[in-house]
Amino acid sequence: MNDQQTPDPNQPEPEPGDSDAAQPARRKPGFFSRLFAATNTEVPQEPLADEAEEAEVAEAAAEAAEAAAEAEEPKRGVFGRIFGKKKKDDSAAEAPAEEPQPEPAAEFRAKKSWFRRLRDRLAATRQGLIGNLRAVFGLSGKLDEETIEELEAALIQSDVAVETTQRIIERMKASIKRRDRKEGGEVLFEVFREAIEDILVNSAPGFAPKTRESGPYVVMVVGVNGVGKTTTVAKMAKRCTDAGLKTMLVAGDTFRAAAVEQLEIWARRTGCEFVRGAHESDAAALCYDAMAQAKARGVQVVFVDTAGRLHTKSSLMDELGKIERVVKRQIPGAPHETLLVLDATTGQNAIQQVRIFSSAVKIGGLIMTKLDGTARGGVLLSVLDMFRIPITLIGVGEAVDDLRDFDPEQYAAALFGEDDAEKD
Ligand code: GDP
Ligand code: MG
Repeated sequence: MNDQQTPDPNQPEPEPGDSDAAQPARRKPGFFSRLFAATNTEVPQEPLADEAEEAEVAEAAAEAAEAAAEAEEPKRGVFGRIFGKKKKDDSAAEAPAEEPQPEPAAEFRAKKSWFRRLRDRLAATRQGLIGNLRAVFGLSGKLDEETIEELEAALIQSDVAVETTQRIIERMKASIKRRDRKEGGEVLFEVFREAIEDILVNSAPGFAPKTRESGPYVVMVVGVNGVGKTTTVAKMAKRCTDAGLKTMLVAGDTFRAAAVEQLEIWARRTGCEFVRGAHESDAAALCYDAMAQAKARGVQVVFVDTAGRLHTKSSLMDELGKIERVVKRQIPGAPHETLLVLDATTGQNAIQQVRIFSSAVKIGGLIMTKLDGTARGGVLLSVLDMFRIPITLIGVGEAVDDLRDFDPEQYAAALFGEDDAEKD
């Protein structure tokens, strides 16, 4: 597990002050909204596959995980366990043979339920970050030393970085001064919320995989092992195939048989083309070939799933840089998006991962998974505040529906535990 928290064992720390990651904040509609606006298809709410298929896939995946026993991945067992668990859960919740027809209000209910789900799954972070702040702010009703100390402790405990914590406090002070507000617990809380919202809104979603006139749109997905790259690729690909786009998945992690199998299963499931290389073959060479195949087959969107750690002495960062270059050689301008997947449960390690990956490839967007069940979700604020790379998608669970466009306003509402269920 420790291993997953280490950004890249192959790579030295990045140079201090490396700010490749710093990009101007953009405010655009999210990936899926734009994608689906173009194709006039709503984001589907139904599960990936029918229950029987799901069970079959889960079984195959569990087998694949077992078959990969030679891979000394710390996550190997987890993979097997999770798929095993999923299978059990699925059979317990078996759907009736005939699906009831969706009612007109179904879409609205789905949105409501997503907001509730988001709010519920952010409960641990909310508890740590916001839980007792009303009490803290009520102490003296002023932003005095004691209040600041308590606030710092709460933020840092939720994995908000020190720099971000300081900026939140500075913003609060400035806001109180600027508006000449009378202090008091409620005012402090309001000002605090505004400071958080400022951070969230500053970096709105910026991911725009579109189809291109001439040739495929290429999305490369990077991140350390276990963060959720492959499942995230599958979830995005599913949206693309549902929208009628010819989609290809490329298994860039050639060193882990289980990783290749896992992606292949997802490709079958989501109706994507699939390209894999020989075991331990050169990932960049594979990607070069895959791009040629994608062009030849008229593929519209390609997702390149990459390794999170190499089983050789060569450096993962070098390999990713090389993949980026060869992809560009085949398809000028590609990869059109490179997304870095971060696991919220690793807390501030995620910050280090952004630094390291940004030094190797141009990261256009972040995907933060596993915001469910962690009190460390404050790291999302730090990442936004420190790098200004748009958070594209967030994951709050393993189900296909648990990966959504990041909506700053909705996230703030959920984080603050708002009751309003119409925030979608
Ligand atoms: P990879 O090594 O980066 O490709 O990671 P995987 O895609 O194999 O995912 C590792 C595990 O994390 C899988 O069991 C996923 O189901 C799980 N996972 C991915 N996203 C989320 C999420 O948002 N929440 C939770 N709880 N689990 C997730
Ligand atoms: Mg993977």
